[in-house]
Amino acid sequence: MSDGLHFNETLYPGVQVSYTCDEILYQEKTEHQDLVLFSNPVFGKVLMLDGVTQVTTADEFIYHEMMSHVPILAHGAARDVLIVGGGDCGLAEEVLKHASVDKLVQVEIDGSVVDFSREHFGDFNQGVLDDPRFELVIADGIKFSAETERRFDVVIVDSTDPHGPGAVLFSEAFYRNIHRLLTPGGVLVTQNGVPFLQKQELVTSIERFSRIFKDAAAYVAAIPTYFGGHMALGWASDNPDLRRQVVSVLEERFRAADFTTQYYTPDVHAAAFALPRFILDAVEEG
Ligand code: SAM
Repeated sequence: MSDGLHFNETLYPGVQVSYTCDEILYQEKTEHQDLVLFSNPVFGKVLMLDGVTQVTTADEFIYHEMMSHVPILAHGAARDVLIVGGGDCGLAEEVLKHASVDKLVQVEIDGSVVDFSREHFGDFNQGVLDDPRFELVIADGIKFSAETERRFDVVIVDSTDPHGPGAVLFSEAFYRNIHRLLTPGGVLVTQNGVPFLQKQELVTSIERFSRIFKDAAAYVAAIPTYFGGHMALGWASDNPDLRRQVVSVLEERFRAADFTTQYYTPDVHAAAFALPRFILDAVEEG
């Protein structure tokens, strides 16, 4: 919703987040969703899809670093990585910082989000589309995951919320497809909303993970853009040891990876799995 001077996010009943808008930079009704990019004095460039904030230039680093470096460094030997969604390509940029990753496939339903991001988000997705390890597939993630014969060590679901085209990416059928295409001991990470406001989303995903994977869990990060406190990132693997990596091992791997971060540290990684009681309750309910 916009009055020209503000954009209001109405994702949650009873709460409305209002961003002042300095300038509308781009607006398009794509084949799949309503896309708008505007500038805000605090968040920089803000991308909304169907009225829901997706990414901002000011704090994308928190979300993208925690979605990528946590599973890749916990795994320790990830060569093949799959991103589902992630149209702005900020997550891809972080994954490709790992020289150990040989191949990154990104399956995004909406090619116009990628085209648009190439033009407007060069500040954080520089070089991704020209990296020979990167392969972009424009397709629905549920269809790709049902049909592909490829296998991946790490799968990251950078989806919209469970409404519109993103809804299928929270289904049990989709999680079963991902389980099938993970290599033994591989890991799935998902964006799972803000538990203070979207508790049921986390409960439902954990319930579904638990029916399929040996280990179903969540970790958290505080991302100002995703209003309401901690954001939960879902975690599912058949290797329960992966999320219990000791800090000294993570430190060694992070040092070897040899790049800098703005949010991720091995201590933050380990601590992110320590859940506040109300979030742990949601996970245990699931
Ligand atoms: N970080 C954001 C958040 O937490 O709100 C989400 C990032 S945004 C890049 C999510 C992307 O998922 C969008 O580009 C959207 O087009 C894509 N997407 C939605 N449904 C999809 C589907 N079924 N298959 C593949 N991509 C999908």
